[in-house]
Amino acid sequence: MRYVSTRDPQKAGLPFCDILLEGLAPDGGLYLPESYPLISAETLAEWRELLKTQGYAALATAVLSLYVDDIPADDLAGICARAYTAEKFGTDDIVGVTEIGDGLLLGHLSNGPTAAFKDMAMQLLGELFEYELERRDRTLTILGATSGDTGSAAEYAMLGKDRVRVFMLTPAGRMSPFQQAQMFSLDDPTIVNIAVDGVFDDCQDLVKTVNGDLAFKAEHRLGAVNSINWARLVAQVIYYVALYLHATESDDQTVTFTVPSGNFGNICAGHIAREMGVPISTLVLATNENDVLAEFFATGLYRVRGTAETHETSSPSMDISKASNFERFIFDLIGRDAGELRRLFAEELVREGQFDLSGLPAFSRVRDRFGFVAGSSSHADRVATIAAEHERTGVTIDPHTADGVKVARDLRAELTPPVIVLETALPVKFSQTIVEALGHDVERPERFAGIEDLPRRVVDLPNDADALKALIAGTPQPA
Ligand SMILES: *Cc1c(COP(=O)(O)O)cnc(C)c1O
Repeated sequence: MRYVSTRDPQKAGLPFCDILLEGLAPDGGLYLPESYPLISAETLAEWRELLKTQGYAALATAVLSLYVDDIPADDLAGICARAYTAEKFGTDDIVGVTEIGDGLLLGHLSNGPTAAFKDMAMQLLGELFEYELERRDRTLTILGATSGDTGSAAEYAMLGKDRVRVFMLTPAGRMSPFQQAQMFSLDDPTIVNIAVDGVFDDCQDLVKTVNGDLAFKAEHRLGAVNSINWARLVAQVIYYVALYLHATESDDQTVTFTVPSGNFGNICAGHIAREMGVPISTLVLATNENDVLAEFFATGLYRVRGTAETHETSSPSMDISKASNFERFIFDLIGRDAGELRRLFAEELVREGQFDLSGLPAFSRVRDRFGFVAGSSSHADRVATIAAEHERTGVTIDPHTADGVKVARDLRAELTPPVIVLETALPVKFSQTIVEALGHDVERPERFAGIEDLPRRVVDLPNDADALKALIAGTPQPA
């Protein structure tokens, strides 16, 4: 399997491990496999048996082996076995489904170390990085910006990995107390938490500025773990397969997935699973008030928002103004026409801040050929949904999952059951909204007891790239 850029797929492709440590392709595009591997009915039946008898890590190895041909099979199995342990995910099954009535299921993806679905991909990424850095005898400095879930998932995944150190920028005072405690309580010299005097966009700009200094970037071996990383995406394909198998009894059944979405990473993995032949009838995309994507799927207009137009909501991990993975889907939607893709993303979007596919034949394929529908949710919807689900089933869902449940219930009449709503975080991370909805907080899982009281390890930094560079340069490289 070789990987090509969405903006120049004619160029010779690269093997998996060459793009593992990369974000964007050098031409500004995103990496995708030359073609998606198709699975047969026999393969699906084998995977069902494999999941049942040998568990999630074995399924992960089987799915990944279709995408990775430059890691020996035994090594790949070892990587998956280390990434997906009952110890890290609190259950032997790693993921699972439970019913919440009317043909709806929750797909549980948030049992990892940081209580959000990002652990599913990040834990695998941590093991892959360690393996590949060892093989190449080199080190990596991850520089990232986070408004919450990504940063903590990355830090917990890289913890104890000798060849990786992490510098994570956070907007000072803007994450939930739980999210701050989760990151700042980590006690490891290779993990440096930074509180920037600014907002999330300032943090992202700092990362861009420092990466723009190519000499500095090369000297300190800067890398990223952002959501456009191909390995993160393919890691997510695995749980679509696992949840499909958990929710069905035979391989002629189809399912619907509903996905609380921000950067289009999670649902892009669903799209890839569907293209491979996993029997998914519909992919329902749910947004919050930041409805860039819901607008596209309703109208064909993709209009990115400015900072001023990006709302701060109570499902903050979906507060995005432009969806960084969206280019991958559009590439497939327009029949992998790179000229057209460049026109849309490198020209029109840059010039106008939007593009409009409503008049094109491709747009009708969104639903008919690719199975996408979308809807959005508001703060009032989230609060009402959290309360209603708690009342109905006794289950407390987090605000992001609530956006998904709300949209799934809205569209229920036109969807084929079972409808699996992906649970993207546990409610413990977002107590303020839970208290607003229920009048009381959720019971806290034992492993998170008292984390706010642990010593905080965080460096305060002005919003200044030179100060950040000095901090990175002054922190010793790992071994
Ligand atoms: C990251 C995140 C999302 C959005 O996922 P995308 O892959 O960016 O679409 C939704 N919910 C939670 C809790 C998240 O952490």
